[in-house]
Amino acid sequence: MYHRQYTGGPLGGLSPDRGFPSGRSPTDVSWPMSDEDWRDANLALAESLAEIPLGQYHRLRTLAENIAIGISLLDPMFDRYCLICYPKCDELCCETAQVYYHFTDLLFIHVLGVEPPPYQTRSKQGEPCRYLSLKGCVLPRVVRPYLCTWYMCDLHLECFFAERPKEQTRVLGLMERIRLDKERLAREYTGALEASGD
Ligand code: SF4
Ligand code: SF4
Repeated sequence: MYHRQYTGGPLGGLSPDRGFPSGRSPTDVSWPMSDEDWRDANLALAESLAEIPLGQYHRLRTLAENIAIGISLLDPMFDRYCLICYPKCDELCCETAQVYYHFTDLLFIHVLGVEPPPYQTRSKQGEPCRYLSLKGCVLPRVVRPYLCTWYMCDLHLECFFAERPKEQTRVLGLMERIRLDKERLAREYTGALEASGD
């Protein structure tokens, strides 16, 4: 499952401790964050992206668009599972699972050029996700943390294993391709920043 986190890499000339608790890097966002720290993380990321030459930025953008297409292909299946499973669910994962945006999620959203989410999923550990409403998640899937798509609960797994084997293979391949593309996006971002600092 998707537990890896992008935690390193240069951020141009940005201060590594810009408004963050000591020892934290602006790329280290997957923890409960105040709204102010979240804004700083977004600002730092936007500023670092502005330093990347246009040609390299276009490469990142193409990669982000491919990731977004992949997520949109998964969306109908997971929406269908939610309709089936939600009435049977007695422990909402969005309340109990401590899911946070990872840096790769935020990078993907910024490069794609869509509005970044206004805050981290939680400002304190143990809270339910702040994007959970009475009607479910208020965010389009493309801007949710990827873990929200990657993770399948037991009820979703029941639906998934009822799919034809060919469909299961297609979905797992797509999910893995998105995960790898997000890792690649982070690597290419780091490389582009390093090159722009030469
Ligand atoms: S994904 Fe599973 S655990 Fe989470 S709310 Fe839906 S049915 Fe419940
Ligand atoms: S972002 Fe949406 S799907 Fe993900 S944990 Fe929060 S409410 Fe649930």
